[in-house]
Amino acid sequence: MPKAGAGPVHPVRWSALLAAAAFVVAAFVGCATSPELPPPPQEEDEYLAGPAGEPIEIDYLFPGDDEPTPITAELYEAMVLIQGDILLGSLEELTNAASGLGTQSHAVPAAGSYWPATTASAPYLYEVPYEVSSDFSDDYVDDVIEPAIAHWQDETNLRFVPRSGEADYVEIVVVNGRCWSEAGRQGGRQELGLDESSCTSIGTVVHELGHAAGLKHEQQRPDRGDYVTIREENVKPGKIGNFDIFQSGLPLGPYGYDSVMHYSTTAFGITDADGNKLTTIESLGGAINPSSRLTDLDLAGVRRLYPERDLPIVDITLPAATTTLDEGELVRFEAQAVMAPTIDYQDLNYFWSYENNLGVPVTFGSGDTVSHSFCDGPRDVTVEALVLGMGVIATDTVRVNVSDLGLTGPPAKCGISVQIDEPLAGAVYAEGEAFDLVAVIDDDHPETEDPLYPVTWRLNDPDSGTIVGTGLHSSTKLGAGQHTIFVTYGAASDSVEVTVVEAGTPPVASISDPADETLFTWSELDGVNPYLDINFAGSASDAQDGALSGSALVWQTRFEASGAYDQKGTGTSPTLRFGMSSGTTRYDVRLSATDADGMTSTALIQVVIVWPPS
Ligand SMILES: [Zn+2]
Repeated sequence: MPKAGAGPVHPVRWSALLAAAAFVVAAFVGCATSPELPPPPQEEDEYLAGPAGEPIEIDYLFPGDDEPTPITAELYEAMVLIQGDILLGSLEELTNAASGLGTQSHAVPAAGSYWPATTASAPYLYEVPYEVSSDFSDDYVDDVIEPAIAHWQDETNLRFVPRSGEADYVEIVVVNGRCWSEAGRQGGRQELGLDESSCTSIGTVVHELGHAAGLKHEQQRPDRGDYVTIREENVKPGKIGNFDIFQSGLPLGPYGYDSVMHYSTTAFGITDADGNKLTTIESLGGAINPSSRLTDLDLAGVRRLYPERDLPIVDITLPAATTTLDEGELVRFEAQAVMAPTIDYQDLNYFWSYENNLGVPVTFGSGDTVSHSFCDGPRDVTVEALVLGMGVIATDTVRVNVSDLGLTGPPAKCGISVQIDEPLAGAVYAEGEAFDLVAVIDDDHPETEDPLYPVTWRLNDPDSGTIVGTGLHSSTKLGAGQHTIFVTYGAASDSVEVTVVEAGTPPVASISDPADETLFTWSELDGVNPYLDINFAGSASDAQDGALSGSALVWQTRFEASGAYDQKGTGTSPTLRFGMSSGTTRYDVRLSATDADGMTSTALIQVVIVWPPS
């Protein structure tokens, strides 16, 4: 039973839209502590309230887009707002731009829409220089603005530092009746506007700081249709543009119904005859309940934008870090990678592996979602994110603890097995000739490579036959005749038939090329074929028959010391094909030569294949 197939490469379709995005919808599985913040204003988002502006139709070129998008914006006190609280700029700024609306934003490359790291090496911190207008009351600064900033600093790698001459900075300014922010780092001075009598909650400021950090509203993710339905009939006239999907946004991880960046269910809703605001955002899943703080999903998304270490990163999102299951139980793994914008996601592959009981890395699947079952023990499962031509660019590991089902029905693959490698079935030896007894074992105990039970070789009867060898590697000589050799290991056994003859001598086989322990890389890989072909050369000579050739020479391979050999070729110069397996994989390559008497000899080498090239 061959172990652990080498998984073929399948190009992975990457569903996330990776157009370099100035606005990012953040949400991803993560963990976070829970600061004490007051409950959110549930009835209405403060940042959507306040006096309405005038509708204005503009063509706006979002960062990362090729074409301007016609949008309905809101002109409020000479400021152009979208989605209630996102400031595009003053009408004067936007209309004075050289080629009309939008060119200004085009000058801000998307990658520059985030605040850069200010530490040279990990762990990275990202400084946002800021100023607070002296027109705010001290109480408002102390009780609302600063706690919101502290929350961001406690939970993320962003640091809001008082500006000392930096060119790019956020100025928190007093505005009339509304709260808003420009989204992402704009370059130069940018505004975050607050009215302290209407933007009273810390959560509102946390939300606006989220825009300044580069977050977009959660329900504007390109995939929001899977999670919510917009009830257009309940949206106030002229306000439907506030629900536009942001097509070039980057959705990070699961949809966050309670994201601090999510609108409440009645945002921009009309009121019925009884004075109730009608639902505009209807959930198709969880309850929509916008948080007043960064949720775990928000924080995980923010960590993707402002990571502690270099991108790219890959996370195993399923299963959870502390997963326990029974042996044989299928467990589903999912991974998600975030890569540099320059990398084409079509070239991304995921490979999943763990070490089997013999310490051999086993690649058990490819793709962002795989399922597998294990035998008992702690299993460290590693996912590698690979890019053709670049190699492994990120890895993550999750431990699954697999419980032993003991003797009450463990899956067959978790039982104990023993397999005879040598002698080969039907081998013929000369009387008095020493030959090897070689077995491989597999058991359900990863803690040691050594056999847990005696390995015993007997003649003609597994229980009472004459002992002809012990251990995984032994040798013996037998008298002329037909013999059945048994090997036992615990309750498992295997057997092989051999013939010992009175005359003749066995051939001598050797492998001349490649040399033992030769290292190969997948440099020949053309990105299409999930295998590597290697040319071998070998020979065998026999005292009676001379040089052997053709089908007298049989080539077999397998993963190192693992399972049965597979026949891969014959003759003196075969090309043997090896399926692709990520990482460093050792293969046993065995040449078996059989002469006219039926006598056999073998030669064994190992080749090592590394993919990707390091
Ligand atoms: Zn907002």
